[in-house]
Amino acid sequence: MPEKQSERTAATVCAQAGLLPTPSATVPLAPPIWQTSAFSYPDMETMEAITAGEVAGYIYARYGLPNHLQLEQVLATLEGAEAAIVTASGMSAIAATLFALTEPGQRVVADSHVYRGTRLLLEQDLARFGVQVDFVDCGDRAAVERTLREPARLLWVDTLTNPTLRVRNLAWLGTLAHAAGALFVVDNTFATPIHCRPLTWGATLVVHSATKMLGGHHDASGGVVAGPAELVEAIRRQVVRFGGRGGAFETWLIQRGLLTLPLRAVHSSSSAFALAQRLAAHPAVQQVSYPGLPGHPEHRLAERLFKGGYGAVVAFELVGGEAAVRRFLRALRLVRFAETLGGTITTVVHPATTSHRALPPSERAALGISDGLLRLSVGLEDPEELWADLEEALLASNE
Ligand code: PLP
Repeated sequence: MPEKQSERTAATVCAQAGLLPTPSATVPLAPPIWQTSAFSYPDMETMEAITAGEVAGYIYARYGLPNHLQLEQVLATLEGAEAAIVTASGMSAIAATLFALTEPGQRVVADSHVYRGTRLLLEQDLARFGVQVDFVDCGDRAAVERTLREPARLLWVDTLTNPTLRVRNLAWLGTLAHAAGALFVVDNTFATPIHCRPLTWGATLVVHSATKMLGGHHDASGGVVAGPAELVEAIRRQVVRFGGRGGAFETWLIQRGLLTLPLRAVHSSSSAFALAQRLAAHPAVQQVSYPGLPGHPEHRLAERLFKGGYGAVVAFELVGGEAAVRRFLRALRLVRFAETLGGTITTVVHPATTSHRALPPSERAALGISDGLLRLSVGLEDPEELWADLEEALLASNE
């Protein structure tokens, strides 16, 4: 075998081109993208030590890459958690949490206003796996107390309901869940850890769709669960078995997005607040739901739970129902009609014909979703220019 690289054939040089050492006494300011599906061991003893957890070492991308681990450390710190696990999407984080922590015969209680994807997973998959799933309006304390009289393994709520922006009282929900012996899981996607940290209010675990504000640039999908190390480890094992890890580049994009999270979250919240106030005063708008507005039913609670702003999302209802919505959406120039939230671009969605389309009108009405309801997610554009665009479209909605 030739010893020197220069003596090897082109086939060998090319096949192993990525293994050349790159010695450096310096470190990069931005994280490398660890675009590899596996790592090689120097010998059997090292493999055994890594497998036994005695020595740090990466093995295989699905188990975790340096990009995953770096992102997990930041997210655990932001949520004030012992540990975190990052996944390929918010839904993969939610699925892994539910399947890792429940067993057939146990019972899960979830908010009837929970994110629709979570609801479908609970109804169609967790129930099929033999878990009893019950929904209750988590804004109604007496109803939650009644529901938790029967044993439950887990209570699941979103900090802010989608799309109606009601605020959940994490403090008493946590107390009730723990008294019933249940884990308390909070999806904090809408609030972000910049504005609200559910673990400080009694949550056992916090979940996010990192596709939204954490990544924040409309270019990557991801999810996270943060909480006590022992539970996160059980979820990590589930993620590995489900194949729920995101790719290196996708994870890197979220790492990059996170660099500016505090600035983006505060800016978007401040613009959202200003737009909510103007929308509330406009004659083409029937009703606005934004936790920062004094007229919001849980405004006092939001003042206690939230810091530095009330989030980027505003729900509002147009006078004139779906016909007005169609005219409004056609007239927008800056704001984009898209089924997402929490990015640099301001987006708007019509829940009755998108996320909640499959529901009969009576069920939509029970969730507070009227035909005129829109959910606005405020991005980073100049708020005055956003208002000019919304004002034009509100005018058009009336014509
Ligand atoms: N949780 C909430 C509150 C969401 O809004 C979403 C998606 O919209 C998810 C979870 C699911 O996240 P993903 O789309 O990244 O799977």
